[in-house]
Order: sequence, then C-alpha cells, then structure tokens
Amino acid sequence: MGKQPGKKGILYVVATPIGNLDDITARAVRVLSDVNLIAAEDTRLSRRLAGRYGVRTPMVPYHDHNERRQAATLVARLGAGKDIALICDAGTPLISDAGYRLVRLAQDRGCEVVSVPGPCAAVAALSVSGLPTDRFVFEGFLPAKSPQRRRRLGTVQNDPRTLIFYESVHRLMATLRDMVAVFGGDREAVVAREITKQFEGVRRGTLNDLLEWLASDPGLRRGEFVVLIRGRDAAATPAADVERVLSILLEQLPLKQSASLAGKICGLSANAAYQRGLKLKTQR
Ligand code: SAM
Repeated sequence: MGKQPGKKGILYVVATPIGNLDDITARAVRVLSDVNLIAAEDTRLSRRLAGRYGVRTPMVPYHDHNERRQAATLVARLGAGKDIALICDAGTPLISDAGYRLVRLAQDRGCEVVSVPGPCAAVAALSVSGLPTDRFVFEGFLPAKSPQRRRRLGTVQNDPRTLIFYESVHRLMATLRDMVAVFGGDREAVVAREITKQFEGVRRGTLNDLLEWLASDPGLRRGEFVVLIRGRDAAATPAADVERVLSILLEQLPLKQSASLAGKICGLSANAAYQRGLKLKTQR
C-alpha cells in the first residue's frame, strides 16, 4: 500500500474464520495481502490460512503474553507509515482475544483503525439460537472457579436480555451446573457447539435438559462452545404480585430500599422495581 511520506499507517482489525476456512471475506484476503505486516495470535496457525489464500505478508506474534511490549512496537511501525493487519486464531480480534491495547494505543497516537468485519462465534451462535436477538449481553468467559463464577452469574440473574457466554470444554459441565444453581434448572438455554465445523450442533432446552443431554454422551462434550441463556422473563412475577410486595415494603421502608428488596424477591431489576414503587407512591 503506497503511502505519502510522513503519513501514518493504518491498523486493520480483520476477522478470520471460526472453523470453516471458506468463511473469510474477499476484502479480508485483499487487506491481508496488501498490508506490510500481519500481527497474529498464533503465527503458525495463521500461516495455514494465509497459505490457502496465497497471502505472503510477513507475520509477527501478538497475543495476551506479549501484548504490552508488542503494542508499542507495532504502533511505532504504524507511525513509520507501515500498514498492519491484526488477526486472531479464529473470529474477530478483541472479542475475548488480544488487541484492545493495540487499538487504543494506535488511536491515541492518531493512527486510523479500520474494521474488516466477519465471523464472531457469539453472533453466529445468537443468530441460530432461537432465543430473542433484539437485546443481548456478551459476558465472554466466566471466572474459572465456581464461587466467583456463581457471583458473576448472580449479577445477570435478573437481566431480561439474552446472555451469551464463551466456555472452554474443560469447564462446560461445571459452568452449566452453576447456571442451574443461579438461574434455576427451568431457565431456557442453548448450547451452540463447533459452529461451522464438522460436528456443528445447536441444542435448545432447559438448563436441566441440556445438562442431561451433554452427560449422555462424552462425544457431545468435545470442541468449542457458546452457551446462551434466555433473559429473565419480566412477566414471570405477575405485576399484581410485584405491587403487593412493594406496597407491604413501602409501609415500613423508604422507596429505594423497598425497590431493592422487591427486585430481589420478584426477580426484577432494582430500577424496574423503583419505577413501579414510584408509581405506587404517587397513586397513594
Ligand atoms: N475472537 C473469537 C470470536 O470472535 O468469536 C473468540 C475467541 S475466544 C478465545 C474462543 C472461544 O470462542 C471458544 O472457547 C468458544 O467459546 C468460542 N468459539 C470460537 N469458535 C467457536 C466455534 N466454531 N463454535 C463454538 N464456539 C466457538
């Protein structure tokens, strides 16, 4: 890519396939071929993808362990007018992958950062989950230890939006058990497995169903997974019950405290309970 002297290079954030190597855009191939350098999570793995598309651009490693040092080096090269493409092993860089530091630093130093969009496991899974897609929350990877994991799950327990999690094969069952403990075994969920790969599968059911299904065959517990949980149904507690709980609490407590307790009792966000409490108070 020819540059005027003194002009800074462009950082391209390029999505690559999450399994099926055909899932790369024509623009991604063009950008990967045209840039001066590719920063890749695992250069050996990415060379396979590059080879398939005839991309011969030099590669340097960029991952969680060298991110701090490498970001500064790469931004210096952008400053010297070199164009760089950032890729990860699969999908969109920065989405549960390294890159945030580089993008931020490049922008702070006045370099242009351009997206070359494509696959992302979270969005691919959501689009075939059969769960509501109008509002969703990406929670990425949960903590590795169960107490912390349950605490994190507790923070989204009453969220009405579809919840999306990444999970490693080693923790899948333990995580699903924690999800049952926090959300209840009847909550609807989806396990999306090996998307775009040979053993691709999407299974929807209650959390209890999914645990039982995965326990039935070790083969099902291999590969890469996205777990999605249906958001808390706001209609789960009838409005009349919420109002009754709020009225009782408001007799003894201030609005804020009543709303917080009513939210916990009825499975609503504190804000939603506050708004209802406010309405009740003005009606009195
Ligand atoms: N940057 C990637 C993206 O855009 O989706 C995510 C990288 S993250 C390190 C890897 C996790 O993504 C896996 O543990 C799994 O939860 C999910 N994942 C990636 N590829 C997948 C696939 N083909 N099927 C299901 N989940 C996948």
